[in-house]
Formats: sequence, C-alpha cells, structure tokens
Amino acid sequence: MSDRRCWLEVDLGRLRENYRILRGRCRPGCTLIGVVKANAYGMGAPAVARALTEEGCAMLSTADLAEALELRRAGIRAPILLLGPIGPEGVEEACREDIVVPVVDLENGRRLETEAARLGLRLRTHIKVDVGLTRLGIPVPSREEAAAREVEAIAALPHLTSEGLMTHISGVMDPALDYRNVEQMELFLRFGRRLEEKGLRLKMHCESSLLYLSHPEYQMDYVRLTSALLGIQPGGEKLGLGCVAQLKTRLLQIKRIPAGTSVGYWMTFTAPQDMVIGVVGVGYGDGLIRSLCGGAPMLVRGRRTTVVGKLSMSFAVVDLTHIPEAAVGDTVTVFGRDGEEAVSVQEYAALYGGHACEVVTMLKESIHKIYLP
Ligand SMILES: *Cc1c(COP(=O)(O)O)cnc(C)c1O
Repeated sequence: MSDRRCWLEVDLGRLRENYRILRGRCRPGCTLIGVVKANAYGMGAPAVARALTEEGCAMLSTADLAEALELRRAGIRAPILLLGPIGPEGVEEACREDIVVPVVDLENGRRLETEAARLGLRLRTHIKVDVGLTRLGIPVPSREEAAAREVEAIAALPHLTSEGLMTHISGVMDPALDYRNVEQMELFLRFGRRLEEKGLRLKMHCESSLLYLSHPEYQMDYVRLTSALLGIQPGGEKLGLGCVAQLKTRLLQIKRIPAGTSVGYWMTFTAPQDMVIGVVGVGYGDGLIRSLCGGAPMLVRGRRTTVVGKLSMSFAVVDLTHIPEAAVGDTVTVFGRDGEEAVSVQEYAALYGGHACEVVTMLKESIHKIYLP
C-alpha cells in the first residue's frame, strides 16, 4: 500500500453517516434509493451499495442492466431500479434478478410485454415520463392527456407490474432560475393527480440530490440520491454531510531549481525565482483534467501548494519552496483534508468550470481504493 503512486480513500463510515442524515429528512413512507451508477461515481459500486444496504437502504439504482448484474455478482440482494430502458433481451435476467426497469414509452412497454408473456414471467416496472429535461421518458409538456393515456396503456399490460411513475428534473443550479425546477415538479404532481383521477395510483419520484436538498417538500414516495450521499452536493455541508472521497498521492522526488528553469511539457512554466519543486505521482492518466496545469491546489504537510507546469500522464510537479520540511515519501492530498487544510472536490471542479460529480466520476476505475470502515 505504501508503494502506491496514488490512491482514493473512500470513507464508508462517512457515507453511512451521510445516509442516516439524508434518511432522517425523508418523510414517513418515502424511500431513499441509493443510486450507484457509473461505479458509484468512481467510488466503487459494490462497496458503496453494501454499506448503504447495511444501513437499511431498501433500494438501489444503476444506469443499466450490466451495472445491476455486477452488484448481483458482488452478492448485493436489494431490489435495483434501472435508470435507462432495456430491450426484450434483458427481460429474463431482470425478472430473475429482481431488477426493476423503467418503461420509457408504449412501444418499449409492448416489446417488454411480448417477451415477458413468452417467458411466462412478470416484470417490475416504473413508467418514466419527461416533464422538461427532454431526455428519457414519455413527453408530458403540452400533451398531458395523450401522455396520461400512454401511461394507462402501459399500466394495463398484463405481464408488467407497473409500480412507479418517475421523472428527472433539469436541476437548474442558478437560484434565479430555480422556479423552472419547481415548474417541472409541479407538472409532475399534476400529472400524477390526473392519473389518480383515472384510478391509477403509482408511486412517484422525481428528486435527485440537488432537488432533495433544496426542496424536501417534493420528495413524494422515493428520492434518488448519489452526490448528497457522497457529500459532494453543494449545500450539503449545512446538513452536516461530509465528503466521502479523498485522492492522495506521494512525493517521489524533490529538487532545487534556479530561476529561469522551465518545468514540464511544452515549457509552459518558467521558475520566476530559485525554487524547490516536488514530483508527485498523479496525472491525467488517473482521470484528472490535463488542462489543470498551473494553479491546481495540493496539500503537503498540512499546507497548500500548487501544481506548476502541465500535468503529465502519471506525474505532476508542485511548488515546495514554502514547505521546507517536505520529504520524499510524504503523502500529498489532491482533494481531501490534511490537518487544518482541505481542498474540496467542489473547489477542484470550479478550477475548470466543471461539476464535483464529474471530478470523481472521471477518476479511473483502476485507481487503487482504500475503504475506511
Ligand atoms: C444520477 C441520477 C440520480 C442521482 O443524482 P445526484 O444528483 O447525484 O443525486 C438520480 N436520478 C437519476 C435519473 C440520475 O440519472
């Protein structure tokens, strides 16, 4: 372990605590779905799923069947809701493995029905509608009655057990445009009432982390969360949520360089004065952004420093001029905490105008992970 060039520390105790805090905000009857798609945003889906289900999380979610089957192979037994649709070829496995699938339109529903009928199985489904994100699902805006009839037709298919009605909200971050999120959630509620008037009551869900933190009043029957559970959703700190992930590397070599020395590929950095620099073992090959050249923070001995020159594939160079006690072998924090200092994933993301979820999800699956209990 001490020989690793870089590694990701995933604090499962922190994840469990975040789960308990978020679960505590759910109203009675609301179920928290732990979304672990994309390898749980790079944290390792099986480990995250196991910690969540041990805390009592009753349902998980993945993007597709392959991700869900990976959890089954890891021994995770909780029901799994897929976020994306499957074709007929996935029906048998979904039924056998207790995987709940979204139906994104009547044609998708009919194809699943035909296959489930042929196999003599029943498939658990949630019907997915689109209230303005314009991604998956039956479009609702300005065709509410037609959309309602389509949902009814799907719910009537005898080999599909239609349990839920789901949508996904645009998640506009700008507070001045938050009313657009509210409009979509209100449209979804109104649509649910229209179905209820026709005698169809489905369990409803629309909220991901951003909306659940800002509008707990729209939580309905389920909420689907990842970034809040991982402690990387802005605003989560107010509830006591903490970041689960820390990316660490090691100081591999230290050298003194005279003023005027260029550092790194393309000679984009020239030392303005005599400097001490350190080479650390992390780079864009590990999933960091190459354009984060000069300026990206790192922590050494509890102090902030910055990357100088271009990030390379497996290595980067940091300024150690102001940290004379730094020594080869020291742990270096890319994001996370070191003593009093911390670099948040959000701060990291802001350096290139990205989102915290991207920063962690882009980390390579091959990065060694250390799970703290
Ligand atoms: C990824 C995803 C979520 C979870 O998103 P967070 O913002 O990280 O909580 C919820 N619902 C859907 C449909 C998703 O794709």
